[in-house]
Amino acid sequence: MNPLRAVKGMNDVLPDELARWQRVEAAYARTMRLYGFREVRTPLVEPTSLFVRAIGEATDVVEKEMYSFVHHDEALTLRPEGTAGAVRAYIEHGVPQSEPVTRWYYVGPMFRAERPQRGRYRQFWQTGAEVFGDKGPASDAEMIDLLVRFLREIGVPDARVMVNSLGDAAARARYKTALVEYLTPRVSTLSPYSQRRLETNPLRILDSKDPRDIEVVAGAPSILGVLAPEDTAHFDTLRHHLDALGTPYEVAPRLVRGLDYYTRTLFEIKGATAKLGAGDTLVGGGRYDCMVAELGGPSVPAIGFAAGLERLVIASDATLPAHKTDVYVAPLGEAGIEYGLVLARDLRAVGIATELDGRKASLKAQLRRASSLGARFAVIAGDNEVASAVVQVKDLVAESQETVSRSDLVAAMRRKLEAAS
Ligand code: AMP
Repeated sequence: MNPLRAVKGMNDVLPDELARWQRVEAAYARTMRLYGFREVRTPLVEPTSLFVRAIGEATDVVEKEMYSFVHHDEALTLRPEGTAGAVRAYIEHGVPQSEPVTRWYYVGPMFRAERPQRGRYRQFWQTGAEVFGDKGPASDAEMIDLLVRFLREIGVPDARVMVNSLGDAAARARYKTALVEYLTPRVSTLSPYSQRRLETNPLRILDSKDPRDIEVVAGAPSILGVLAPEDTAHFDTLRHHLDALGTPYEVAPRLVRGLDYYTRTLFEIKGATAKLGAGDTLVGGGRYDCMVAELGGPSVPAIGFAAGLERLVIASDATLPAHKTDVYVAPLGEAGIEYGLVLARDLRAVGIATELDGRKASLKAQLRRASSLGARFAVIAGDNEVASAVVQVKDLVAESQETVSRSDLVAAMRRKLEAAS
């Protein structure tokens, strides 16, 4: 029989690796709380129509990357991103009626049937956030600033922020016309995929990684030239705010992103290129001022971002202390095991990380395991110790050993660990 394997593009995260994830997640939760965000959890499965309406029919995600299925006549999809579900939940629970500004963050798995490569998977995790109800560029600037701080905290030294503005629907329509006018005479030099995009979604050609498209796009007009005055003012104020915060950024007038819902501010943060190569986009985000109304809610402006957790973990330079237990309980013989079980429970009750060896292995094997787990002390108990209500406490670094009475053990271990730290 063939060995069973995980689905292609979907990864196990084993404990050593997960410790790195947890550090990034903890830093994320800390940052978000500092900025007034609260965590939200929405389902992994949503109605397919939610993503078609929110993300847009002619996007790569909706066209070819969704895991969709029909269950009892219901068309369902494994969520490919977090914003659509957050907006649905925001509307469904009447949140806009109960608070003027809502700041939510989330962490969870997303699903896209993409070609797997380093930093690109079919099940991947995103840490993301949404701000509902604040249309001012200060919230855009705060979001970018918090991301730069968070990336610095997790040890991504070379984060580069790129910002652009997509204006409103009218500006995008004007830009689309200008872009099509520019691209049409050059259509034969585009990749076949982009040739088709010219009809369906020309803005996406700007995002192509195909060298033929990159060359043509380099001379394309800038969307910043066709923005309405209010959109230009929003963008200019955002830039002032970022300057005031001392957050470095580049203006990237040809930046577009794979999801159709953005209006005005759009941004991307790249980093750790040496480790991630072409997949070095850590964060993507932007304003989506029309989505809440388009999905049946009131007219509420919003801005959000999502960052790939796997990419953040790869990008993070932060080193981790090895997995460590404080005390290793090494029982000898049957009576020692039950005695050790209770000792270990009592040590954990006061916050001392303790592992009990229940293998009935030799003392030598147990002490070897204690050292490999980084335990400072081993608590040894055989028949004699059980009979006299004592234990042997061995300091695995100093290599010294002493007899401690059972009733003093917890206090003695606290003292010893404190002295050793
Ligand atoms: P998006 O939701 O497409 O705007 O992507 C936001 C971020 O999610 C990207 O910058 C990546 O860090 C991450 N991401 C998107 N797709 C994938 C994927 N297939 N595998 C891993 N990370 C991804």
